[in-house]
Amino acid sequence: MDEIDVAQQNDELFRQSALKAHYAGRQNTAMTAKSGKAGPSSGGRGTLPRHKACCDCGEKIETARLKAMPNAVRCIGCQEKKERRDRSLG
Ligand SMILES: [Zn+2]
Repeated sequence: MDEIDVAQQNDELFRQSALKAHYAGRQNTAMTAKSGKAGPSSGGRGTLPRHKACCDCGEKIETARLKAMPNAVRCIGCQEKKERRDRSLG
C-alpha cells in the first residue's frame, strides 16, 4: 500500500510540473507558430526569426546573414549556387 501511495504522490508531482511546463511551452509555441507559419514571403516584418532554415539544404541560416538580409531564405552556400545558376540561365 505504501508503495502505491508514494507512486501516486510522484505521479501527482510529475503531472503538476508537466502541466507547468506545458503551459509555459504553450505560450512560446503560440508565439513562434504565428511568426513561423507565415512562411518565407513575409519575412521582413522587423522581428528576426531566431532559427531560420535554408530552403534548399535545410541548414540553419547564419544569424549574421539574417541580420544583413532578413529576407534571405538560403544559407550563403546555397545562395551563391543559386545566383550562379540564375546567371548561367540568363
Ligand atoms: Zn543551404
